[in-house]
Amino acid sequence: MASKVPKACTLKKWSAEFKWLEIRNNHMYCRICTKWEKKLASCRNYSNVFITNDSNNWQRNAINEHNISAMHSDANDHENQETFGDYFENKWSLKYRMTIL
Ligand SMILES: [Zn+2]
Repeated sequence: MASKVPKACTLKKWSAEFKWLEIRNNHMYCRICTKWEKKLASCRNYSNVFITNDSNNWQRNAINEHNISAMHSDANDHENQETFGDYFENKWSLKYRMTIL
């Protein structure tokens, strides 16, 4: 699925739009999913595309698809929980309670 590496200005635009995007050695990685990989590995939606199976599918769509994936959203939850601690936990459980009602 390798495609041509986009121009530097395009890459710059993508990194500004997707804060988690990391570009190393002509491959794309997700900073957040890489950080929380151990926790995500048990997730049903786990995919290692932006983690170890580094993506060189240089399509904005591929990035966006990862951005809205359930796994990436889980990683964001872990990240927020680490940053905001109890506050986020309370918010999360409230959300959870609302879904089971
Ligand atoms: Zn991610």
